[in-house]
Amino acid sequence: MKAKSKLADGFKLKVGAGDLSFFFDTWIGHEPLCQQVPWVAIQDTALKVRDVWRQGDWQFHDVYTILPLDIQRQLSSSGIMINESVPDCITWKGDQSGIYTVKSGYAWLINHTQIQQDSSSWSWIWKIKVPQKLNFFLWLVCHEAIPTNVLRRQRHFSSLDVCGRCGNAAECIFHCLRDCWKVNSVWRGIGLEGVDWFWKSQPVMQWVKICVSNLGVTFIIVLWWVWRARCSECMAKEIILDSDVLLLASRMQADIQRSFGVESLKYKEPRWVSWTPILEGVVINVDGSAFGNPGRAGYGGLIRSNIGEWICGFAGYFGISNNIHMELLAILHGLELAWSRGFRNVECRSDCLEALSLVQGAQNRFIFMQPS
Ligand SMILES: [Zn+2]
Repeated sequence: MKAKSKLADGFKLKVGAGDLSFFFDTWIGHEPLCQQVPWVAIQDTALKVRDVWRQGDWQFHDVYTILPLDIQRQLSSSGIMINESVPDCITWKGDQSGIYTVKSGYAWLINHTQIQQDSSSWSWIWKIKVPQKLNFFLWLVCHEAIPTNVLRRQRHFSSLDVCGRCGNAAECIFHCLRDCWKVNSVWRGIGLEGVDWFWKSQPVMQWVKICVSNLGVTFIIVLWWVWRARCSECMAKEIILDSDVLLLASRMQADIQRSFGVESLKYKEPRWVSWTPILEGVVINVDGSAFGNPGRAGYGGLIRSNIGEWICGFAGYFGISNNIHMELLAILHGLELAWSRGFRNVECRSDCLEALSLVQGAQNRFIFMQPS
């Protein structure tokens, strides 16, 4: 029970039907909106979240209280939507499913206690069991002192701060080590696609600590090779491919493991898949996804004969939604298209286990797909 107060920070209110108090419940951000406005008009004290949401958007002119523009922007960009069929509830921030487990609670406590304990000291960096050049590199990153083009420009070594690899943005630390399109596929390669804590904007030091807490030395090694690949391309014009970055990191991790006895690299080997024919009927392959969660979303699929001959395909843009919705829409449109073409013996294939469970009725819990 000693952890109770610390764990409490890990729970938050999730908007469903919108019966939460608009001003007095903490349903967005870290404090109730009443603490972010000069005063709450008496007419608004009983206002619920759903009273301000109509016809698919926020109706700020229905609120008597003056809502600062930054709050209006925060609400508009929050992705929160009212869904009358789902009650408001409390969810757990420590896991993407929103469901608390002892394991995720433990991980949450470890991460948050370590960050608090270590905030005043740098000793944690030097205690990590890696070659010292990596400790030093991590120390430089935490001090925002690696010579990115933004830093070089600030120090008058260069007149430009643009990324030398993609040329699309200023090369700050995050762009250089994480966000540049030449880099982010490396991180996706170790399974970080869609992992909120990795991609969200935050202070560099906090990001490093969270990553080290979750990924251990794997993070430091991959980060090191991402930086090496950047320097190699920008200075020596020698390109190190993403797959080679992961291979080099993987080898270094093995060496470190032999020397220091630490865990192995969490690198996901590519998995080869193939299409398998069926005896009779047609096969529908479908897929759907959203760029963000929620974000711009679409779906598509195709119908093939039992031996793999192309029959027809479909694709659609939906607007703003989430992955699971798109996977389900892909299945629906695939089945409808097959039906309209007169096919009655069909096999529908989707790579989304969650969607298949929902279609087959095996899933009976609500899945939260809004951003945290
Ligand atoms: Zn770039």
